[in-house]
Amino acid sequence: MNILVINCGSSSLKFQLIDSETEKVSAKGLCERIAIEGSRLVYTPAGGEKMIFEAPMADHTIAIQMVLDALTNDSYGVVKELSDIDAVGHRIVHGGELFSEATVITDEVIEAIKACSDLAPLHNPANLIGIEACRKLMPTTPMVAVFDTAFHQTMPEEAYLYGIPYRYYEKYKIRRYGFHGTSHNYVSGRAAAMLGKDLADLKVIVCHLGNGASVSAVKNGKCVDTSMGLTPLEGLIMGTRSGDLDPAILEFIAKKENLDMDQLMNILNKESGVLGLSDQFSSDFRDLEEGYLQGKDNCTRTMKAFCYRVAKYVGAYVAAMNGVDAICFTAGLGENSGVIRGMICEYLTYLGFTLDQEKNSMRGKEIDITTPDSKTKILVIPTNEELAIARETAKLV
Ligand code: ADP
Repeated sequence: MNILVINCGSSSLKFQLIDSETEKVSAKGLCERIAIEGSRLVYTPAGGEKMIFEAPMADHTIAIQMVLDALTNDSYGVVKELSDIDAVGHRIVHGGELFSEATVITDEVIEAIKACSDLAPLHNPANLIGIEACRKLMPTTPMVAVFDTAFHQTMPEEAYLYGIPYRYYEKYKIRRYGFHGTSHNYVSGRAAAMLGKDLADLKVIVCHLGNGASVSAVKNGKCVDTSMGLTPLEGLIMGTRSGDLDPAILEFIAKKENLDMDQLMNILNKESGVLGLSDQFSSDFRDLEEGYLQGKDNCTRTMKAFCYRVAKYVGAYVAAMNGVDAICFTAGLGENSGVIRGMICEYLTYLGFTLDQEKNSMRGKEIDITTPDSKTKILVIPTNEELAIARETAKLV
């Protein structure tokens, strides 16, 4: 089956067309600056050159129409006609407590996704626009919603409840949801395959370290805890997001600097994390790593604080599962930075492993980076959220 995977943001749209039998990508790309001046489609057919089409895209329907035109184009397209696209898989950020797995999209499902928009006001409405646009252009093609939160719905109450009045959970569903679920699910599955074991017999910790970053504890194939919370702001120190902090800091800064809640949230989401900690040097870990290796103070404190926080979460999740068999690193820096993996692992050698330094310097491929006698395995596993969405979609249609 040809599965079109769509990840729709408010002004951008990423896509991949995946053959679900061979699991190969036939074409991929993105639309940028939708409904903004200077919009363009970047399109790469498998084995071909990257192409850039600059054209106005007044809305997402026009953007998706351009994608479909490219995919079916006589010279650089990868399918003959629209009906060769068998299904569409949509990435949806928040499924609240309503969705614990992927689901075929119906009118009722759309209403339920709308009902979760309160919990992800920046993301769910944009995801819905993508669904509506695809339905308009491909009214008979089956579509599936795959949720970032779904994998984490197996968390027990003690892991998802906050220490605030219970009525807020009852009234507003304030609780830990967790994100990057598609990635945590995919990577924990690959870990079992790499170890040649059944996931149902394993305790795995997945560190998804990209611009957005989260850690999860996967016991016997089920998520039992994760570092992101009601929103993706909690947990690790991220590119520009603060992660965990004392909530009283908000009031303190608000009074000192005369700021309102919107301004504070903007600071925590966009000006904090490693960007803020490095004194606005960079949110990009490549820059920070370079600065750290050159001995720059701001980069050193930032890298150390980032790695320490990851190690602290890993320790917490070893406790949550009463043990661990494998710790997996994935996403941008998890897959690529041996320096960061090494710094995190220095805190964790009590778990009984030795890093193989040569293997740890490799990047972007599935590899066990410990020596053979290591009791706990440290695995590097490139994530593939698009493939995971395509698999879920193929399974359901
Ligand atoms: P997201 O999908 O959340 O935007 P990614 O998973 O693409 O993020 O990760 C982006 C991050 O990964 C950036 O901070 C980038 O600097 C970092 N990264 C990518 N390659 C490397 C590398 N070789 N060394 C260190 N960091 C890297």
